Amino acid sequence: MARLLFTAREFGSLSDPINQKLSHQLEVLVGKPLQFMHQTHSNNLHLVNKVEAIKEDTDSLITDNKDLALVVRVADCIPLLLYSTNLVAAVHVGRKGLVNEVAVKTVEKMQSLGAEKVSGVVGPHICGDCYEVGTEMADQIMKSHPATAGKKAHLNLFAGLKEQLPNVDLENVGICTMEKSQYFSYRKADESGRQVGVISL
Ligand SMILES: [Zn+2]
Repeated sequence: MARLLFTAREFGSLSDPINQKLSHQLEVLVGKPLQFMHQTHSNNLHLVNKVEAIKEDTDSLITDNKDLALVVRVADCIPLLLYSTNLVAAVHVGRKGLVNEVAVKTVEKMQSLGAEKVSGVVGPHICGDCYEVGTEMADQIMKSHPATAGKKAHLNLFAGLKEQLPNVDLENVGICTMEKSQYFSYRKADESGRQVGVISL
């Protein structure tokens, strides 16, 4: 079974540039070296085996090394942590990531690397009642991703993700970053703080 962790505001922010002291504290907590990524809402995956300075746009990390922990940083987007018996992945899924199918690509990659059953946990993110976008954008996304449809121009990212990954057992911790003051939320306060999701084998 994989080991998973989500931080909240109280732990501190791991936005860019990464606070080295805080990163070290997290590493001590996790007990393994941490691999971060340069997140840009892309659908690029990176297979890692040891800690690397990843310069390229990357929104999904995968490893089979049990001595490495993968980190995804978020402040409203979905921190998606995926695991199988032989692999783990940390994926950054916002609206753009839903559309560019970064999670679908990740699961396919895990399967090509021998993962039989892939499961996942979705950490704190903005919920479907709070995530309002422009009408035109909402219409466009609801058309291609019907499950995201909520009240008016609100998008339910988790429902959209679930729809994209029908064969993955997805658990949602059910915490909304915009509603809960304990979490960083870009939308709530236009702040740059980031909480993290961490996973390792
Ligand atoms: Zn909410």
